[in-house]
Amino acid sequence: MPIQSQLVIFDFDWSLVDQDTDRYVFEVLAPDIRRKIKTRQAEVQWTDLIAMSLLELHGRGRTRKQIEDALRVLPFHPAMQRGARNIKENLRIPTTLICLSNANLVFIETILKDKAFEDIFEEIITNPAEWRDDGALIVKRRVSPDGPQHSCTTGCSANMCKGEELENYLVRCNKTFDRMIYVGDGSNDFCPILRFKRQGNRYRLCPTIPWTRKRIANEGEKAGLKASIRYWAGAWEVEEIFNTLTTP
Ligand SMILES: [Mg+2]
Ligand SMILES: [Zn+2]
Repeated sequence: MPIQSQLVIFDFDWSLVDQDTDRYVFEVLAPDIRRKIKTRQAEVQWTDLIAMSLLELHGRGRTRKQIEDALRVLPFHPAMQRGARNIKENLRIPTTLICLSNANLVFIETILKDKAFEDIFEEIITNPAEWRDDGALIVKRRVSPDGPQHSCTTGCSANMCKGEELENYLVRCNKTFDRMIYVGDGSNDFCPILRFKRQGNRYRLCPTIPWTRKRIANEGEKAGLKASIRYWAGAWEVEEIFNTLTTP
């Protein structure tokens, strides 16, 4: 049966873009805070750590414009932009794109806006963020530490379980897809691809090295991974794979 609809799910850092937004901003504006993040990441929850570090940056007089300028020069490969645009606008298979990211909404939207890409995603599922009147960027966890936490058992860390977030999206959007495609690289991109089998969809996956790949190798079979997998390293290879996914 030909494919009549598809969903493309993009992780953001090191997947849609060629960098990690959280770390990059500090590498550009305050390398010593970047060092502190690396030192403390094992003991402080990641989103909290970035939120605190952004407040420290603000305390040093770094402005909203400086943060936005740093995000605007973050590497975003033209081939990835082209590939995402082509698969979204292909006329043969109606294709929905969403973003599933543990970065934050301000970082993601600033970059997308700069590249005239604001319309690419139907939904951006990530940590909430907003600019305070005094120019501080306030980031919060998507799943508040005070409320119920995710119930994932595949080893997702606190805050977002991307698998649950994807399943919730699929219920919320009220559509079915003949094929789902997931582009990711991180260890937290393993959980959502395990959920593909429960949706009864056909599937394909394009993770790069190293983290998702490591988990697929170590845990994939035991966890019942059903998605077919394509490895890629450069944006041009994702574009190449996408070009094969625009015909039914
Ligand atoms: Mg990533
Ligand atoms: Zn999970």
